[in-house]
Amino acid sequence: MEKEMIDLLIRNTDYLDKDWEYVRGKDIAVRDGVILEVGPGGSLDGKYEAKEEIDGKDTVFLPGLVDAHMHTGQQLLRGGVLDEMPMIWKRIMLPFESTLTEEKMRLSAGLAALDMIRSGTCGFIEAGSYFMDEAAKVYEESGLRGVLSYSTMDQKGLPDSISMDAREAIRRTDELFDAWDGRGNLKVYYSLRALISCSEELIDMANERAKEKDTFLQAHMNEYPGEIQPYMERYKKRPYEYLESRGVLGRQFLGAHSLLLSEREKEIIKERGVKICHCPFSNCGKAVPDTPKLVNMGILPGIGTDGAAHGGLSIWNEMRIFRSVMNVYHGVPLAEPAVMPAKTVLSMATEGGAACMGLENAAIGEGNRADLIGIDMDAPHLWISGQISNTLLESVEAGDVKHTVTGGKILMKNREILTLDEEKIRFLAREYKRKERI
Ligand SMILES: [Zn+2]
Repeated sequence: MEKEMIDLLIRNTDYLDKDWEYVRGKDIAVRDGVILEVGPGGSLDGKYEAKEEIDGKDTVFLPGLVDAHMHTGQQLLRGGVLDEMPMIWKRIMLPFESTLTEEKMRLSAGLAALDMIRSGTCGFIEAGSYFMDEAAKVYEESGLRGVLSYSTMDQKGLPDSISMDAREAIRRTDELFDAWDGRGNLKVYYSLRALISCSEELIDMANERAKEKDTFLQAHMNEYPGEIQPYMERYKKRPYEYLESRGVLGRQFLGAHSLLLSEREKEIIKERGVKICHCPFSNCGKAVPDTPKLVNMGILPGIGTDGAAHGGLSIWNEMRIFRSVMNVYHGVPLAEPAVMPAKTVLSMATEGGAACMGLENAAIGEGNRADLIGIDMDAPHLWISGQISNTLLESVEAGDVKHTVTGGKILMKNREILTLDEEKIRFLAREYKRKERI
């Protein structure tokens, strides 16, 4: 019998099912970006002819992680904001972003992509930067699954290079959408940088345009008291109530951070099917979200990093920080150690993040997307493990990710990046350091 051609065969591996429990010794066949078949180890060899193969020995596969909120344009600010006095946004972030160039965005996207592939992040949502075409070219080449946005705000008094009116701000995303949505693994969302930096006209235009194009609208939401207060004073409404009154909210709205939520706002999020995500390291300087309540209501937030300048791009770190904060803030006062179980946190970083990208079925299973990562279990800190989901949360680091596969394509095999020229990006990073004297 002639063998069927497939794109990838992962041989004799263990993987984790949708309940984060072990399934041992399986072959996984992948074709056209989806998992075609999962069979007993050694059983699929005679059936398929694979273009690529991965030896799954001593490896456990799980769904690829999703960074549900990051900023490519802040990549070169890594290490530049920790312990700084407020307002970091006004004093450091905005001035830095106003000096971005095509060249800096190419380097930023290259560094971010390498970092994500190396840490097992298969999908990401860019919250809005400048020169996004340059970033898009790099991200397309990387093979990552990505959502891109143009930084959108029309507040007065911004530096000249990033100052624009509502029409111009929308036009930039229109162009990005027409050029990149649906190309490779990329999508484009409309965005509102933060509500208080956007006029009512801009909010309405972005909402209309996103609905017209059948894509998401994303915004930074309920992050500081200072951005909630003005809405309460002006409209007697909190931010989610305000957006609800303007008909903005629905299943294709993503509210990043969503920390300071009233009970009514939580209900609106639930009723409207709004997607939300938290950024644990970054959020530690702001507030602790009421995630146990949100999860009980059936809302599974995604997890984001908020970019390299806020604690790096490792979702492993974010998961660990998140679990610790949840425990000390919500769990300890109630003497409830399982206030945020490891399995829930892992589901947030995979299924929750995928939902923020408009995707379903993140688990490893036949017919599902082949966004997978292989963890090298042959390391002293992983030789002995009780419950695998606990070990993933407590002990696995970005450097333990051995293989990264997105849409059935291998982006990293045995820690070697296959889609981007890592040496070239290293060279550009050195040049940047020399020029900027850092
Ligand atoms: Zn952000």
